[in-house]
Amino acid sequence: MTAPAEGGAPAGAGPTDTDWAAAAAAVRGLSADARVLLICHVNPDGDALGSMLGFGLGLRRFGVRQLQATFPGPPGVPEPFRWLPGLDLLVPQDDAYPDPDLVICFDAASESRLGDLVDRLDKAGAALVLDHHASNTRFGGIHLVDPHAAATSVVAEGLLDRLGVPLDAEIATCLYVALSTDTGSFRFEATTPAVHEMAARLLATGIHPGDISRRIFDTRPFGAVRLFGEVLVRARLEPAAAAGRGLVWTYATQEDLARHDQPAYVLEALIDSVRCTAEADVSCVLKQVSPAEWAVSLRSKGAVDVSAVAVALGGGGHRFAAGFTGRGSVDEVVDRIRAELDGALLTG
Ligand code: AMP
Ligand code: MN
Ligand code: MN
Repeated sequence: MTAPAEGGAPAGAGPTDTDWAAAAAAVRGLSADARVLLICHVNPDGDALGSMLGFGLGLRRFGVRQLQATFPGPPGVPEPFRWLPGLDLLVPQDDAYPDPDLVICFDAASESRLGDLVDRLDKAGAALVLDHHASNTRFGGIHLVDPHAAATSVVAEGLLDRLGVPLDAEIATCLYVALSTDTGSFRFEATTPAVHEMAARLLATGIHPGDISRRIFDTRPFGAVRLFGEVLVRARLEPAAAAGRGLVWTYATQEDLARHDQPAYVLEALIDSVRCTAEADVSCVLKQVSPAEWAVSLRSKGAVDVSAVAVALGGGGHRFAAGFTGRGSVDEVVDRIRAELDGALLTG
């Protein structure tokens, strides 16, 4: 089950005119010396970084002078994103304003995704949340949460537009990275006409989609290629799982990473090589974070609501792409997933 929305808006509804007006007013009302802190979710992906940095560059154009962007955990940006415009906005979490006038969160469905930075929410003058997870817990004060948006960058573009900030190539590059990441390069169901219309606006600034896609999707060190090979060899197919819809899963340990001298983020692309399995609706990758802790990625082709599985196990996400932190051995974590799958079936 996804978390019910609190407050007046029905679950699944996007931002109201009042929400948009409140968000725009929070930015327009900033004084000239106001400090603004942007935060995206832990282990940032293309949407988290792209929507945050794209919006940050827009805020800079808007005239915000004291502006920082950050995310919880180690400050390193994954190599595929290390060329993004706006990286100069980033600071390590410990250097982030302790009590900003405005904090803006990107692509985080719950406070737990903000790690140690969660204290900034209470200490900030106001907290604005831009997100597109149906499971968003409505933390923070002002919510621009649109479960129908393909990416948080769709919401970010909407707010920039309302603030009168025009797109330029740098902003557009960041928002395009976010949009193409969360739509799987415009392949997933969320790829609506509105998504292509937004992509057209971004491309019209003169950005280069071929270069961008190659850098973020089609480039990986040789060590990672070999690592993927080993991890894929140990994949298991369980045709009877999920009431016969099938489950395919594998795992990667810290030892695997060390053996191939690879950083943890290379594993983010692994789920894409697993989820193509024809015989399984549900796919799963366990990525070891510490000896008994796993970052778990879940995907479905449409028969199972994997966000229900993830929420039941303490995480969140979208219907067909979700995740959680699993504790214990690989077998224990996979047992728990198996047990939740039957109850998460969407079709008979
Ligand atoms: P990933 O498998 O990491 O690409 O994540 C897929 C989706 O699940 C994203 O929308 C994430 O925001 C969400 N997600 C992943 N891990 C967690 C977690 N530990 N808690 C809540 N949501 C998560
Ligand atoms: Mn994300
Ligand atoms: Mn997203």
